[in-house]
This record gives sequence, C-alpha cells and structure tokens, in this order.
Amino acid sequence: MKIVILGGDAAGMSAAMQIVRNSEGNEIVVLEKGEITSYGQCGLPYVVSGDVNSTDDLIAREPQTFRDKYGIDVRTSHEVTKVDCDHKVVYGIDHKTSQEIEESYDRLLIATGASPIIPPWEGLQLEGIFSLKTIPDVQAIMDDLNHSIEKVTIIGGGYIGLEMAESLVTLGKKVRIIDRGAQLAKIFDEDMADLIHEEAERHGVKLNLGESVEEFRGDHRVESIVTDKGEYETDFVLAATGVSPNTSFLEGTGISKGVRDSITVNAFMETSIMDIYAAGDCAAQYHRLKQKLDYVPLGTHANKQGQVAGLNMVNKRKAFQGVVGTSILKFFDLTLGRTGLSEKEAASEYIPYATISIKSTHAAGYYSKEDPMTLKLIYNKESRELLGTQIIGHAGTDKRIDVIATALYHHMTIDNLADLDLAYAPPYNSVWDPIQQAARRA
Ligand code: FAD
Repeated sequence: MKIVILGGDAAGMSAAMQIVRNSEGNEIVVLEKGEITSYGQCGLPYVVSGDVNSTDDLIAREPQTFRDKYGIDVRTSHEVTKVDCDHKVVYGIDHKTSQEIEESYDRLLIATGASPIIPPWEGLQLEGIFSLKTIPDVQAIMDDLNHSIEKVTIIGGGYIGLEMAESLVTLGKKVRIIDRGAQLAKIFDEDMADLIHEEAERHGVKLNLGESVEEFRGDHRVESIVTDKGEYETDFVLAATGVSPNTSFLEGTGISKGVRDSITVNAFMETSIMDIYAAGDCAAQYHRLKQKLDYVPLGTHANKQGQVAGLNMVNKRKAFQGVVGTSILKFFDLTLGRTGLSEKEAASEYIPYATISIKSTHAAGYYSKEDPMTLKLIYNKESRELLGTQIIGHAGTDKRIDVIATALYHHMTIDNLADLDLAYAPPYNSVWDPIQQAARRA
C-alpha cells in the first residue's frame, strides 16, 4: 500500500513512525512544505530566552534519518496545493526546483497543522513585525533582536504571547502586551486572570487590555503601533493572535470541515472521505466533557492523534479518547494550569455549574518553604460531577492539574476528589491536599 502524509511535524511523523513500527511492506511518502521535520515548536520561546541552547536541540529527527533509518521517503520543500479524492492523487509544487509535483496514494493523511492568524492591519509590510510558529520564524526574530531593539510590543495575551513576554523581559527588553480582550490568558476565568496581570506588572510588563490594534507606523521599519485608544512607540512587534488550521487547499474536495475550519474526524481519525485521515492542528479534537468536536490545537493532541491515525491507516484499530482541555504554562515565577471547562465554557454548554475557590499552599502550612496556590474548582451543581479546575501557583501546580485531568477523564464527582488517596508529606502538601480542601468546602 502507498501511504502519503502531508506535513512532516508532530502529527505527520508520529503517524509515519507508527506505520513503520506496526506494518510491513508499505511505501510511505511524506510531503513537507518546509525544510525541517519533527521538531518541538513548544520549545521555540525558550530558544529566545536562552533556556534552550539552540534550535538544533528542538529537532527530534532529521529528514535524512527518517529516510536512512526508517525507510520513510521524506521530501522537504514539497507543498501540496490540491487533493483529487476521486483519482487519489495529490498535486503541488517542489519549491527547490519550482517543478510541479503529482503523487498518487492508497491512503492519505492530512497533517498540515495550523498557521498564525495575522489580521490585515495597515503597515504590516514594515520591517520588525513577526509571528512565531517555526524554526525559521524564531531565527528571524533572534536576528532582529540583535539590532538595537529596546521596546517590544506583543499583540495577543495567549500562551505564546505570555511565554514570549517572559523571554523578552529576560533579554532586558521593555515589553508591552496589547490584547483586545479584557484579560490575558482567556482560557482562565477573569478572577484567576487577575493574578496573571499582577505577575506581568510585577515584572514590568505594560498591559493594554481591551484595546484593538489598527495599524503600524514607521519609515521602512515599525516605529509605533496605533490602537483604538492610543499610539505607542515600539521597535519590534510580535503578533501572537492565535492560529487557524491549514485546510484551505482542501476546498472543493468534499472533505468535511467544522469547528473553526478544522477537518472533521471520527475517533479513528478518518475524515468524511474514504481512505483520507487527518490529525493534529489541522483537525478537530473530540472534547470529552463537551461531548462534541472542538478545536484545541496543542502538541500533546497532535502526537496522540498522529499515533492513532498511523495505526488505523494500517488497520490496527485504535480510537482517540479525546481531550479534556488540559494545558499548563510557566509565566515568570508562576505556573498557570487549567483543565476541563472554564465558567464561560460551562455556561455556553448550558451546564448548571457552581465554583469554589481557595487560597492554599503547596506545602504544609507550618513548613518553611510553602508557596501560595490559588485553586478554583468548577462543578455541576446538580450532579456534582467535576467540570474543570484552574490553578495558579508555583511548585506542585502541575501535579494537581494532572490529578484533576485524570479525574475529569473518569467523570469523577467533586466528592470523589475528597476520597482520593493522594500522597502526603509536609514538603508537598497539607494532610488534606489543596484539591481536597476545595472539594470538601464544595
Ligand atoms: P505542525 O507542527 O504545524 O506541522 C504541520 C506541518 O505541515 C508543518 O511542518 C508545515 O510546514 C507542513 N505543511 C503545512 N501545509 C502544508 C502543505 N500544504 N503541504 C505540505 N506540508 C504542509 N503545544 C503544547 O501542547 N504545549 C506547548 O507548550 C506548546 N507550546 C507552543 C509554543 C509555540 C511557540 C508554538 C508555535 C506552538 C506550541 N504548541 C504547544 C503547539 C504545538 O507546537 C502544535 O500543536 C503542534 O506542533 C502541532 O503539530 P502538527 O503536526 O499538527 O502541526
């Protein structure tokens, strides 16, 4: 069987490796638009800060390794622009030779990921305006930061904006974040976001929330940014305003798209067209709590969906078990963790919910090195099923978010949490863990 994979990063190469490991005699061709395969995009902000030494450290496997060691025919600079589902052929262009390409398939995986959304602001052509998605993007950013850049503006207070704000402060830049919403990190509820705002301001980050960017001004290079509320001098701009799935080349194919234009898939990563699969940031993810497809473009899902797609493509039946909305990020001295539904999400799903928030510590109250932790549980006030949790703290935030993510996976109630046999010793928690303190109060 000839298997063609479009996109050679997390989802595409996870699938390719599963096919190699679980079948024999298949021809695997990967068509990748860029030059680099299989790398950790999640590490890009830490290349800027210096916590990751080099972009080379992010690359798991080079195209040559896939070819020589695993027999996967990886072709870089190959962009696919059209899929003919009736004749099972993909068409595109080899950017190195400018030649047109044509490749037939028996089974096809679409793993083309997502691209940054850049609104059509005026002045976008000026130098000094960037987005961050790939290794070439981070290299361009770092080259530019070597010039005399002092004032930096980040548009968008999502996780990439926040991680980059920290990295740029580490480099000694004066950082401003502009977001049209009233809060940073909108995957957290407003009350929790206040803690994020305090942390930003504590580290000298200027916040312009509830402001919409209108244009960039400058002569060749960006010198200021204009919003609906003011004009701010800047030497550098990072647009971090979200991503959208790379699915426009599928127009007219009959491959169904749904939430935010992502490809509709079933649990086996099959699309609406026979023998065509999709995985990762270009595809939808089943949300276990919302009980419907959602769009949650994260590396953790791309790897899992890619693995599941690869197995199913060689008839090893495995279902993707869905997501519960878990994510975590470091923001200066804080760890921000969330899983499940926020209040806004619970409300939009018409779930009758209640919340309980506590301030606790990650260690026993009497232990000298206790760090504060704010924890909020959201639960169904009728069934008492746990719906979600947000934690902002320091050490131990990650552990508790993952405990709750596990509880959500198993549809546990808030009362089940209080009964859990969680590890206890004074350097790690109180005799009742903060999760259980909150659950008992609820
Ligand atoms: P991609 O990694 O985008 O790969 C898709 C590939 O397809 C690309 O190489 C692209 O060149 C290629 N392609 C696109 N169109 C075509 C075409 N027409 N023909 C051929 N090839 C094509 N996730 C987390 O879970 N945790 C994190 O901490 C985290 N941090 C992140 C930080 C940053 C700065 C960024 C940018 C992302 C981060 N993510 C994180 C998200 C994570 O990196 C993505 O979810 C993941 O890379 C998605 O993998 P993918 O294979 O679906 O898509």
